[in-house]
Amino acid sequence: AIETLYDKDGSLDGLSGKTVAVLGYGSQGHAHAQNLRDSGVKVIVANRKDSANGKLASEHGFEPMAVDEAVKAADMVILTLPDEVQPDVYEQSIAPNLTAGMTLGFTHGFNVHFKTIAPPADVDVVMVAPKGPGHTVRWEFEKGGGVPCLMAIHQDASGTAREKAMAWAIGVGGGKGGILVTSFKDECETDLFGEQVVLCGGLSESIKKGFEVLTEAGYPPELAYFEVCHELELIINLIKRGGLDYMRYSISNTAEFGDYYTGPKICDDATKQRMAAALKHIQDGGFAKAFRDDYAKGFPWFKKQREENKGHGVEKVGKELRAMMPWLDPVDLDKD
Ligand code: NDP
Ligand code: MG
Ligand code: MG
Repeated sequence: AIETLYDKDGSLDGLSGKTVAVLGYGSQGHAHAQNLRDSGVKVIVANRKDSANGKLASEHGFEPMAVDEAVKAADMVILTLPDEVQPDVYEQSIAPNLTAGMTLGFTHGFNVHFKTIAPPADVDVVMVAPKGPGHTVRWEFEKGGGVPCLMAIHQDASGTAREKAMAWAIGVGGGKGGILVTSFKDECETDLFGEQVVLCGGLSESIKKGFEVLTEAGYPPELAYFEVCHELELIINLIKRGGLDYMRYSISNTAEFGDYYTGPKICDDATKQRMAAALKHIQDGGFAKAFRDDYAKGFPWFKKQREENKGHGVEKVGKELRAMMPWLDPVDLDKD
């Protein structure tokens, strides 16, 4: 089994007397900055002052500064900028201000693993990647708990990289949920695989294709939406609490029978082979290259997909139906 550590296995000592600069105050940034500060660590934040996130940082009592200023003042630098933005910011504002013995911290292994950021040999390079959205990381910490984290050491120049990473993981709350020790490679490749193949890509396309089949067969889009999208929440909640077993225990025998009877015909060996091909494409750097290349051109392909997906039938009818269910606390990104 993977090495799993808790509060009792480490301490905050690795960061005592040190200044931690959190770069970015978005989903992950706001959680790491506030949790570490509440744990007694000295934290400074870099962000644009006038953006929504910059204003939030100020409201939370930080004084958002420029990245280069923050790096100069820091012992540990935590990058919670979007992955595609990190290499440019690293070249321009981080690398020139790094000195021997400093620590670079990542919340996802992407840039280090695919070598779009290549830190010098005299700094420590570590990762603490909470296995949950930043807002949950903050929320659980405030309640006295913590989201499990993956922790990895890429480079230990000082001989104390592990103590620093442990202090960060404990300070952000990970020692309550469990700190799973891994590598940048494993974190990065499994994270990308999960989001592309199952959680986001696989799920989104299942919903869309299911909706298309029902509506093309003449069923009302409203019914299709309820059956292939709305009810997912119920299923996910059951799986989350007790696995597939509990989900199958809770649904009707008809639904469970149909699960075994039809599921393997939809997601079959050919699907599995395509999943394996997607993994290869991640491992050989093909996906990272595609992402970087499109970003370099201003994300034309990415933006086109976003627009096209907004126009899908399941999105249109979903908006209308969610408005009939205010208890869902519906969000409309075009209005809110
Ligand atoms: P967000 O998009 O939520 O936040 C990004 C932050 O970076 C914002 O504060 C933004 O500031 C700032 N920023 C954006 N562009 C620039 C720029 N060009 N120059 C300077 N600052 C900029 O990011 P996430 O928290 O989602 O992701 C951060 C990292 O965490 C990534 O490595 C991601 O893979 C990882 N991660 C994310 C998880 C999540 O739950 N979202 C889960 C686990 C890991 P402004 O508001 O001013 O634009
Ligand atoms: Mg990810
Ligand atoms: Mg049903």
